Amino acid sequence: MRILVVEDEKKILSFVRKGLEEQGFVVDACDNGDDGFSMAMTHSYDALVLDIMLPGRDGLSILRTLRENKNKIPVIIITARGEVSEKIEGLDLGADDYLVKPFYLEELIARLKSVWRRSSGQGLSILQVSNLRLDLMTREVQRGESKIDLAPREFSLLEFLMRSPGRVLTRTQIIEQVWNYHFDSDTNIVDVYIQRLRRKVDDDFDEKFIQTVRGVGYRLVASDCGTKPSKAEGV
Ligand code: CA
Repeated sequence: MRILVVEDEKKILSFVRKGLEEQGFVVDACDNGDDGFSMAMTHSYDALVLDIMLPGRDGLSILRTLRENKNKIPVIIITARGEVSEKIEGLDLGADDYLVKPFYLEELIARLKSVWRRSSGQGLSILQVSNLRLDLMTREVQRGESKIDLAPREFSLLEFLMRSPGRVLTRTQIIEQVWNYHFDSDTNIVDVYIQRLRRKVDDDFDEKFIQTVRGVGYRLVASDCGTKPSKAEGV
């Protein structure tokens, strides 16, 4: 799961980021409302953890605008103790859940999983291409009968490839989607991660799913036209 966390209290932000990353989430962190808003609008996340009082655009205004733009990203708002009316307004505006500070990381994780489950629907959290299967909820990846162990970024990279089987993805698209970095030109990291994925996903099998498209980028292809992702559209 790829999560955007917008929170201006540095301590909370780094605690949440670290904690979620340790649990295998891919986290983008942002400490002000204006950047948080543009990140939420321009990238696709599986959930947004949103503080209400922020420098720049505040959390409720971000939420309102997202919903006005028909953006259905699951949102968990974070409120300070006593911000009861903000909490209610947030839920009215379409927040999926809320947490009151201070909170335990475990609570946040439980809520993230629960809003994710609700938004994606049970059983829709599986991406499948031929005999390659990726479960977004349990984060398990399997090819045939073999389990594949992936690091968080490797998982996100494979997820991105599997969401658009057959489509060529440029290194820049991959960098933006999987790392959310605005690299100038250093896209070598993509090649490095593709190599790692190949080792884990393709090496033991005759059929190689991950293809290089020279001078352009990469794509995931299965020969049995197995580009039949049983995926949740629009997630
Ligand atoms: Ca705040």
